[in-house]
Amino acid sequence: MSESAVIGPFGASTIGSVKVPGSKSHTNRALLCAALAQGTSRLSGVLFADDTEAMLDAIRLLGAEVEENRRDLSLQITGSGGCPQLDESTIDCRSSGTTSRFLLPVLATGHGAATLDGSKQLRSRPFAEQVAALRSLGCDLQETRALGELPIEIQADGLAGGEIEVAADTSSQFVSGLLMAAPLCDEGLTVRLVGTPVSRPYIDMTVEVMRNFGVEVNKVDDSTYVVPPSEYKATELEVEPDATAASYFFGAAVITQGKVRVDGLHKRSIQGDIQFVSVLEELGAKVTWGDRFVEVEGDRIGGGSFDLRDFSDTAQTLAAVAAFADSDVEISGIGFIRAKETNRLAAMTAELSKCGVEITEKPDGLLVRPNKWLLRGAVINTYDDHRMAMSMSLLGLRVPRIEILDPDCVNKTFPEFFDRLEELRPRAQERSDVAAVVAIDGPAGSGKSTVARRLAAELDLPHFDTGAMYRAVAVAALRAGVDIEDADAITKLAERANVEIHERIVIDGVDATEEIRTPQANQMVSVVAANPQVRRVLVQRQREWATGLGGGVMEGRDIGTEVFPDALLKVFLTADLSIRAERRFNESSDQTFDHVFEDLKRRDQVDSTRQDSPLLVAPGAVIFDSSGLSVEDVVSHLATIFRGLVDD
Ligand code: C5P
Repeated sequence: MSESAVIGPFGASTIGSVKVPGSKSHTNRALLCAALAQGTSRLSGVLFADDTEAMLDAIRLLGAEVEENRRDLSLQITGSGGCPQLDESTIDCRSSGTTSRFLLPVLATGHGAATLDGSKQLRSRPFAEQVAALRSLGCDLQETRALGELPIEIQADGLAGGEIEVAADTSSQFVSGLLMAAPLCDEGLTVRLVGTPVSRPYIDMTVEVMRNFGVEVNKVDDSTYVVPPSEYKATELEVEPDATAASYFFGAAVITQGKVRVDGLHKRSIQGDIQFVSVLEELGAKVTWGDRFVEVEGDRIGGGSFDLRDFSDTAQTLAAVAAFADSDVEISGIGFIRAKETNRLAAMTAELSKCGVEITEKPDGLLVRPNKWLLRGAVINTYDDHRMAMSMSLLGLRVPRIEILDPDCVNKTFPEFFDRLEELRPRAQERSDVAAVVAIDGPAGSGKSTVARRLAAELDLPHFDTGAMYRAVAVAALRAGVDIEDADAITKLAERANVEIHERIVIDGVDATEEIRTPQANQMVSVVAANPQVRRVLVQRQREWATGLGGGVMEGRDIGTEVFPDALLKVFLTADLSIRAERRFNESSDQTFDHVFEDLKRRDQVDSTRQDSPLLVAPGAVIFDSSGLSVEDVVSHLATIFRGLVDD
């Protein structure tokens, strides 16, 4: 068991395809129906993970014969046919909500005694609605510890059936379990949903799987299902790849602004979570629906409001994606996910906040107000919730030092999650368009110059300080007494000035190393840099320079966005404004701290809002907050990411 996993940022857009495991929800429904059927069923594409192992153990206890072929992910199940015989055993559902909520009503149709139990976590999840519904059908149920919670003892003597009402606004699993038990009731069962049901697509999935096993289910209206008594019949069934598991890889495509294809999924999927793809499309991603694949290509991430009531398991993925959006993302309709593996709204709010995301918990959802400049690494608690671990890992694709505690909790539904994610790590060799440049952008005082210089030395690459070029033009203007507002005159200066940028900065043969850093030069440089004609001249020079030398570490404001958008590695270096001001203040104490602070704030504002080449986080760039870190730490992190990209 590992205590934590650190996710190394990709450093570039990912392009690849992934195979995700079989759907947990589809597998567990198929397992139970096969166990209740007469004859031998064959299931392929099955998920083997904690939640489905719990169901497998349970159906064995109920008398099903199971032949496993884990290598080709298939199972043969010979069912006991009809209502289960109970032998006073305790069925351990581990942490599986589906296993426990599907089994409880099915056990109630059987004969004999059994106890349903589970992990500490499952014991804290609600069962009251289902218990009430089953009691109303005459079933003898006893909670032995706390009302409405596991463990629950069942004294079963078949169920006559009839009609029941069930509250479906906490969990659709209650309804699914009752529906699966319905054909085993002597008179069949009519299930009426009270309240607006959550996760309705999961109820539709249950009906579909029951029909696959030859059972008749009539949906009379939106809230009424009529199931006559009948027998499950053995069948062959191909389990769909898990759409919720796929959401993490689609999220990876969008977050890194790459392209990811998930095999085996399609538009007609019976999983509601496939709708997550349309949310990404609305946020700006490009989606290609194949016959047996779905491909998502990331672009800039917009904002919007999304009701995830029907596919709430992807809410955490969306919140993680939203951290990289350009405007607010509101997620609604999901108050009920407070009763999942953990209080997912509180957990997501706590963990994203640690990473610098402004996020507010609302009564029925989350509001994310993203600002990529403020993202930072953190140690992430996962609350024994696989979806916390998987969704928060996505931040690590672009933010260094995201450390996921108890990563093994993904075993619940996706034991190979971290391996699959790692397989998407981009490799320079696979990219034909790549420029051998490390692009480092960021606001003043973020440590760019020092980091870029040391990183270049560490990687044995040339170093280019493009800020010094803009400063040199400002100094040339000062020396020549040219009006800084005279765009044409400044452009001519930029074209003519002979600027040498090495250890020392030399302009037209005269050393200007100190001159370019004076408060006066500081004042003027933003104006020079906001001049589009000057930029055109200097950008051209920067490209020629780096290309001529076969690449290098280039720092500035627009290297990843404008000068080399296809750089091998793109980095946006940031730090708290007060920390940046302190660094600048310590470098030169000609001005008061307040003055330095205000000057930086003003330059951030001018640089990030100017019309031409504003300072933005480049698509897919690693966002590295260096507050509190030593230069050595930052350089060693970046060198590791770089080497990960170029190593075979
Ligand atoms: O990095 P440094 O603070 O020396 O850059 C000075 C100024 O030059 C920045 O504030 C910014 O206005 C401008 N600059 C730019 N594009 C670059 C590098 C610097 O606009 N690539």
